Amino acid sequence: QVATASNFIKEIIEEDLKTGKYGGRVHTRFPPEPNGYLHIGHAKSICLNFGLAQEYNGLCNLRFDDTNPTKEDVEYVESIKEDVRWLGFDWGDRLYYTSDYFEQLYEYAVQLIRLGKAYVDSLSTEEIRQYRGTLTEPGRNSPYRERSVEENLDLFHRMRAGEFDEGEHVLRAKIDMASPNLNMRDPVIYRIKKASHHRTGDTWCVYPMYDFAHCLSDSIEGITHSICTLEFEDHRPLYDWFLDTLGLYHPQQIEFARLNLSYTVLSKRKLIQLVQEGVVDGWNDPRMPTISGLRRRGYTPEAIRRFCELIGVAKRDSMVDMALLEHCVREDLNKRAPRVMAVLHPLKMVIVNYPKDKTEALEAINNPEDPTMGVRTVPFCRELYIERDDFREDPPKQYFRLAPGREVRLRYGYYVTCVDVVKDPHSGEIQEIHCTYDPATRGGWSPDGRKVKGTIHWVSARHALTAQVRLYDRLFTKENPNDTEPGKTFLDYINPESLRVLEECRVEPSLRDAPLGRPYQFERLGYFCLDSQDSSPQRLVFNRIVSLKDTWAK
Ligand code: ATP
Ligand code: MG
Ligand code: MG
Repeated sequence: QVATASNFIKEIIEEDLKTGKYGGRVHTRFPPEPNGYLHIGHAKSICLNFGLAQEYNGLCNLRFDDTNPTKEDVEYVESIKEDVRWLGFDWGDRLYYTSDYFEQLYEYAVQLIRLGKAYVDSLSTEEIRQYRGTLTEPGRNSPYRERSVEENLDLFHRMRAGEFDEGEHVLRAKIDMASPNLNMRDPVIYRIKKASHHRTGDTWCVYPMYDFAHCLSDSIEGITHSICTLEFEDHRPLYDWFLDTLGLYHPQQIEFARLNLSYTVLSKRKLIQLVQEGVVDGWNDPRMPTISGLRRRGYTPEAIRRFCELIGVAKRDSMVDMALLEHCVREDLNKRAPRVMAVLHPLKMVIVNYPKDKTEALEAINNPEDPTMGVRTVPFCRELYIERDDFREDPPKQYFRLAPGREVRLRYGYYVTCVDVVKDPHSGEIQEIHCTYDPATRGGWSPDGRKVKGTIHWVSARHALTAQVRLYDRLFTKENPNDTEPGKTFLDYINPESLRVLEECRVEPSLRDAPLGRPYQFERLGYFCLDSQDSSPQRLVFNRIVSLKDTWAK
């Protein structure tokens, strides 16, 4: 068992509840920018924000942080809502958009100008960058820094009215160009963007910057604990400055380490690239670390929530092993996935002493972990398929499966003994194997108590359904694909074997009515589900969710 990591944020909240800092309230928010699909890193933030609200009887808002019209889209808004819901969280009637506050945010900016705390700058983007200085050099004041309040109000108003081109002017907070914190060196708070917004259309041509919009949105919504990732730690003084300068209700920003997962990337910019360059087949490709990809792959919300609980919340960045995520889905599916038999690499077995036209219905257990899941029958007849791997002509030591002259147990069936091997006369490839069965061993045990060492799975050749099976592996060959060698990009570490497609697999007939997406354990092979996008009754397509072998080092 993996111990649940401690959560320093809970300690802060419990202290605040004790001192009555926010009147005993806990109110969090999950604030995605609708510029891509959510990934497993976002799941960590969702579980944390919604989870804390649940635990402390508080509230959690879903807020779309939509201040950058050129990168955002309603498609993303819809997918984000679907993913949050699927993960098992409910924002009730607390769905907000930063764009709903555009008017109010503009008024706050006007107020800053009136207070002499903001000015319109007419330097170019490049000049602003140069004037900003570096970590070792203080910045320089812009020649426009001392514009009068009247002039600033007039210019800002005309910016909004669309009189200027993009880049001609910006609005900056007037803080301190010598601050050791670069974020405090008169940050830009509004820029001109002549772009249509997915919600406000062409109403606006000035848009607020994240640092300005975020703290104010938190304040407007009465958020108590504004939880964000570590890279915003240096922005916290700015978060506080806006709220204090404007004299507004002041939530507390708390930073935690973002999730990094081995053998994948968790940055929307990079995930977009994988989609756009066709490395994967869309945002919901089952190899993607997106919520929609994991869902299509067959991951359950329970497994993802459990994973987020186990990784906990820390103050230092670290890399989490993908094997832990796989461990979580295995543990969950082991409890609830029905067992079935499927053969991925079929080899025909003919039982030469079994009647040609006979079919028997053999009883099989649906889940040994859960007796309430009952039993089903699987058809047995003279011709079966077994896994090619389960037969060796020249078995090595420690190989206990089928070999010439050897007896094994067919799961839920009979003991069979290999009596002959039929090969292609030209290629020498094994085409089928012939066995005899012992009719006294029905169900998989013998009255004389003789032992067989191997048990193998099988399907009836006459009854089995043909299926395509997609075997997934990690998308990258490098543990940290972000850590690139000179001259390379993360795309140079794509695993060429991240997808293997097997066309002629055979699965037991009970899977004919399998619902899309429901996970099954293929005995001895792993967990699989029908692909929600490509599978149809005419052409079954299974995704491998995860193999059975757990590589998580506890
Ligand atoms: P990306 O770097 O992938 O573009 P982002 O932080 O820009 O992510 P947002 O849409 O702004 O994406 O994220 C919404 C929330 O999810 C933020 O509060 C952010 O801190 C959190 N979040 C994003 N990525 C991670 C991660 N890897 N681990 C934990 N939380 C994350
Ligand atoms: Mg962001
Ligand atoms: Mg981002």
